[in-house]
Amino acid sequence: MAEAMKKIECPSPCNFSVKSHDEKEIIEMVKQHAKKSHNMEISEKEIKAMIKPA
Ligand SMILES: [Zn+2]
Repeated sequence: MAEAMKKIECPSPCNFSVKSHDEKEIIEMVKQHAKKSHNMEISEKEIKAMIKPA
């Protein structure tokens, strides 16, 4: 099965977005971004709910 490109955009008023075919990579990057930029812990479940097809 071919992996489709997925993307996620930070809901906060910042310009952060990640695009990848690797969902795990997206989750890791969003987790790090949320922590660094927003001092926020975000769960994998929440991140998955935010992922959209690119
Ligand atoms: Zn952000």
